[in-house]
Amino acid sequence: MNPSSRPCPVCRSQDLTEYREIDGARRLLKCTDCGLVFLDPVPGDLSVFYEGYRREGGKRFLYGAETLVKYFRVRRARMIDRLFGPRRKTDGAVKKNDGNPRVLDIGCGRGLMLAELKSRGFECYGTELPGQTPFRQKTGDAPFTVYEGDLMELDLPGGFFDVVTIWHVLEHVRDPVQTLKEVRRILKPGGLLVISVPNIGSLQAKLFGRRWIHLDLPRHLYHFSPGPLAHALKQSGFAVEGFRHFSAEHGVSGMILSFGALMSGSGPDLFSTLRGEGKRYGAIVSAMAFAPAAFFLSVIEAVLRMGGVITVVAEKPLESGPGPEKK
Ligand SMILES: [Zn+2]
Repeated sequence: MNPSSRPCPVCRSQDLTEYREIDGARRLLKCTDCGLVFLDPVPGDLSVFYEGYRREGGKRFLYGAETLVKYFRVRRARMIDRLFGPRRKTDGAVKKNDGNPRVLDIGCGRGLMLAELKSRGFECYGTELPGQTPFRQKTGDAPFTVYEGDLMELDLPGGFFDVVTIWHVLEHVRDPVQTLKEVRRILKPGGLLVISVPNIGSLQAKLFGRRWIHLDLPRHLYHFSPGPLAHALKQSGFAVEGFRHFSAEHGVSGMILSFGALMSGSGPDLFSTLRGEGKRYGAIVSAMAFAPAAFFLSVIEAVLRMGGVITVVAEKPLESGPGPEKK
């Protein structure tokens, strides 16, 4: 019997098993063909789960943790600059751009990464859901263009961007394959796509089980691992260049925050303390004590190709036609 009301959203297989029960109303299903884990059923109104998701000015954490967030956004920008670098110099379609390379960050938040990319010569664009960014498109107070809304409804110009980045967003969208097809449409041939998502096949997901911080239910509708993510990319017309399994940002913090959740039982944990929602300063002390072990475990899981967070680099092939499916 098919336990779901729908097939696997990535490979369309009907062969699904229950991965984990969440509560009486929802569960996680796993596709036995491609390995995708997904929430079933998806809540009708998702906006309720994002109330209070960001603090004033688009921030998510208290001061000290925000400093780390800024540092890691600059690192993301450096990575994009480095990945795009070789593409500036060859004769592919991307380099025929007569202006600065155009980058679109889907789910750009406060645009910290975009601000850094702008200083590196990129022409910057971002999308963000209404209420999740301090910028307003119409007032022009952003140092770059911010489109407010869901990518699927924005109708951005086709073949326009040199680079699209999706950091910790694909697991939140209602239809990841349609989202990737839309990204393919708006990228130039030869354009670069960088996606980072939590890895349900990681060592930390197995170690912490229900307490794994990157499960983030019910906001994370899809739980990828390299297999289903590569499958979704190929199905959307991308060529996968490779996966990275080490993330000093979300991989190590995933270990530390999951450990904090495990230690705190049902009380406020490290994550809520950092967000200023609960006070459990003991959690900060125990997390600092665990940090060296967390770093070591993150290196181990990366070596095992079981990183807590995976980052995939893909390309829209140069010989691309209009795409596997027109919008
Ligand atoms: Zn599947």
